[in-house]
Amino acid sequence: MKQPIVQITSVAKSFGTFQVLTDINLTVEAGTVCCLIGPSGAGKSTLIRCINHLEKVDRGRIYVNGKLVGYKLVNGRLHEMKPREAARNRADTAMVFQHFNLFPHFTVLGNITEAPIQVRKDRRVEAEAYGRELLHRVGLSDKENAYPHELSGGQKQRVAIARALAMRPKLLLFDEPTSALDPELVGEVLDVMRSLAREGQTMVVVTHEMGFAREVADKIVFMDGGAIVEAGPPTTLLDSPKMPRTQAFLSKVLKY
Ligand code: ADP
Ligand code: MG
Repeated sequence: MKQPIVQITSVAKSFGTFQVLTDINLTVEAGTVCCLIGPSGAGKSTLIRCINHLEKVDRGRIYVNGKLVGYKLVNGRLHEMKPREAARNRADTAMVFQHFNLFPHFTVLGNITEAPIQVRKDRRVEAEAYGRELLHRVGLSDKENAYPHELSGGQKQRVAIARALAMRPKLLLFDEPTSALDPELVGEVLDVMRSLAREGQTMVVVTHEMGFAREVADKIVFMDGGAIVEAGPPTTLLDSPKMPRTQAFLSKVLKY
């Protein structure tokens, strides 16, 4: 039995009077890949941001690697953590964004070593050695001294993945990592993500790349209207979805 890395129970969230997440329950086991799919506005980004405590939940609980995210239990009551404590609590998780979010004034290697040196207090030589190893893994060994503006979108996103890996996260979150890329650059990023999956990195990926989801996901979760409509292994969810809303969505996005 695999241990769950992510455990979400009864999570709800509103922005003002608009309920963006309704009773979300989801488990992601260690070493597996979970792809979140669904129409724009379904709540996918909000859910993934709640896992990282970039958004607060109104109700329910989220555990990452057995730790309650963003809150602590004191005498049976939940208290929100102070920002510094929440940041430490978040160390098991790293996130890759649609628009890369690299530090423009740092070199590629500087982007990767910043958090290990500043947050985890690693020694520079060690952070740089591991950073170079990660750059090799994402195929960018020759770019360590380049600045982000000198890179293509696909290269920037691969640096962002290396930067996320530098904190040795138990969980990697991706929010539409290839949506901002020119079509010919999508493959190089998906290739890196595929290799991470093969190495057993636990990942939650919001994506519209159905081919990738089919090939790499252990579980695909279809969200609509702030709820999980249906979830299952790729063959079940993509080839024989049960719910009419899933069927309608897939008939629009699955073009062969
Ligand atoms: P998705 O990623 O599936 O497209 P989001 O999680 O980004 O969906 O958004 C879900 C809904 O919540 C959308 O209707 C969006 O407009 C709304 N929303 C997202 N973030 C905010 C916010 N900070 N304030 C108000 N509404 C928001
Ligand atoms: Mg989104």
